[in-house]
Amino acid sequence: MRHIWHKVYLGIGSNLGNRGRNVEKSLRLLEAEKEIRVKKQSSLYKTKPVGGPKQRDFKNGVVLIETTLAVKPLLKVIKSIENKLGRKKGAPRWGPRVIDLDILVYEQLVLKSKLLSVPHPRMHKRFFVLAPFAQIASRFKHPLLNKTVGKLLSELESK
Ligand code: ADP
Ligand code: MG
Repeated sequence: MRHIWHKVYLGIGSNLGNRGRNVEKSLRLLEAEKEIRVKKQSSLYKTKPVGGPKQRDFKNGVVLIETTLAVKPLLKVIKSIENKLGRKKGAPRWGPRVIDLDILVYEQLVLKSKLLSVPHPRMHKRFFVLAPFAQIASRFKHPLLNKTVGKLLSELESK
C-alpha cells in the first residue's frame, strides 16, 4: 500500500501544571503514532488567556507534522492524546487546560462540519497561533484567505 504523508500544522497550548512538559509529552505521544511524524516545532510563546475565567498564562506553539491519516481520524488521535494527558471532558470551553491540540490547517483542505472546521476558523485572529506558525512556516498560504501566515501576522500586528 502506498502512503501519502500529508502536511498538517497543529496548534498546541497548555496553561495547567508544567506547561512546557505537557507540550513535550503531547509531542511524544504524537510521535508514538506510526501514522504521524513530527517534522518541525516552534518555540513556545507565553500568552494571556482569551476569555473565560481568570487563569494562568498559556504556553503556545505550532508544530508541523506529516501524517497518513485523513483529517477526521487525525482529530480522533489528537483528542485521545488530550484525554491521556488528563484533560477533563466537559470542562468549560474557555477554561484552563492541561493541553489543547488544534488542527490549524491540513494541506489546503477546506472543511466545515459540526465536529471539525479546517482551517481553524479563528487562527488568523490569534497572535499566539500566527507568531509560532510564522516562525516555522511564514510562507505557508492560508487555504481561504489567499495570504501567507507571515502576511496575516504582520496585518494582525499593525492593528
Ligand atoms: P478550543 O480549542 O476552541 O478552545 P476545544 O479544544 O474544547 O475548544 O474543542 C472543542 C471542539 O472543537 C472539539 O471537540 C472538536 O470537535 C472541535 N473542532 C472543530 N474544529 C477543530 C479543529 N480544527 N481542531 C480541533 N478541534 C476542532
Ligand atoms: Mg481545541
